[in-house]
Amino acid sequence: MDGFDNLLGGEYLETEVTDAPVNDENNPTKQQHNHNLYDATQVLENIKSDESWLSELKLASFDHMSDLARANCSKCSKKRKYFCYDCCLPLGDPSKTPKLKLPLSVDVLHYPTELISKSTAIHSRVLARDDVEFKEFPNVPEYNAEETILLFPSEDSCFVKDIDCSKIKKVVFIESQWHNTKKILAHPNLKNVRCVKIDLQKTMFWRYQHHGENFLATIEAIYYFFKEYQQAISNGAYNGEYDNLLYYYTFFYNLIQSSYKHSNKDFKRKDNYIK
Ligand SMILES: [Zn+2]
Repeated sequence: MDGFDNLLGGEYLETEVTDAPVNDENNPTKQQHNHNLYDATQVLENIKSDESWLSELKLASFDHMSDLARANCSKCSKKRKYFCYDCCLPLGDPSKTPKLKLPLSVDVLHYPTELISKSTAIHSRVLARDDVEFKEFPNVPEYNAEETILLFPSEDSCFVKDIDCSKIKKVVFIESQWHNTKKILAHPNLKNVRCVKIDLQKTMFWRYQHHGENFLATIEAIYYFFKEYQQAISNGAYNGEYDNLLYYYTFFYNLIQSSYKHSNKDFKRKDNYIK
């Protein structure tokens, strides 16, 4: 078990070379105990002093997150932390987890060899359960091309601000590594679906990938899409309506920041990541 993924409540073995373990503690009991201590005090402090753009989001309170220990999912009974990525249910008191209503329905096309426990798009399903569905490739539905758009940056893609939003009912996101994205895009049911793109943004993601800082984590792309969509339908106004899409993402960002600051361990995945 990678201590880094243990921090995030993952329960899987590392398989990616780029995700080599950075934590050499070998006493799982002690490790878990320490991480719970981090959770309880330092993460919330880090959130308060964070100066990244994530700190400017309008987010629900994180106070109850500090009390969450690893516990059994109410539906499948598996041990989880923060949320169950199989059932897409939050742990702890569900009334304290933000619940979003999205203006479009969302499909996430997920490549099956990618671990769902590492998915960031799954955050959107936990937070906006009624509006988000996951589809395991190659199970791609037949879409109504008039009403559906696919977020994918290519030369032919339109910017969100340039499309006629009035007819759009569904937006599709792809969650896969780059080489598998091409396989998904080649699916015949996507042939007539228009591609849209968002403005260039820099990622805050903690996982290393070699494509550069403009390759976003899926949940970042989902957030930016809905922010731009909202601006497109309301003359540029955006009042944080969909900021809570980044609720878990912001918490995990601060969890990693505070844990690495307080443990004096090097964060080897990305240079200058720990602020
Ligand atoms: Zn579950």
